[in-house]
Amino acid sequence: MSRVDQAELDRRWNEGLCARCLTPFEPRTVEHVYCSRLCRQRDEREAERPEAGHCGACGASLEGRRADARWCSDACRMRAQRAGKGSSTP
Ligand SMILES: [Zn+2]
Ligand SMILES: [Zn+2]
Repeated sequence: MSRVDQAELDRRWNEGLCARCLTPFEPRTVEHVYCSRLCRQRDEREAERPEAGHCGACGASLEGRRADARWCSDACRMRAQRAGKGSSTP
């Protein structure tokens, strides 16, 4: 996964390109950076997902744990699930 930095997003916006799929479009506001709602939703969903190898609740390193581990402890898992995040597996 490659996240782009703010300078790159600014450049895309200036050129009228979607921040996600690079489709040319006409931004109407500064916040308008995606060509479609779909692109915005996809990007937001990605931003929500914690980086691989880190607890989804507290951000602690998951080094040495199973590759599909998403939380450092049961407490964090339950906290995350109670918060409504991470209840669905992709
Ligand atoms: Zn797009
Ligand atoms: Zn944790």
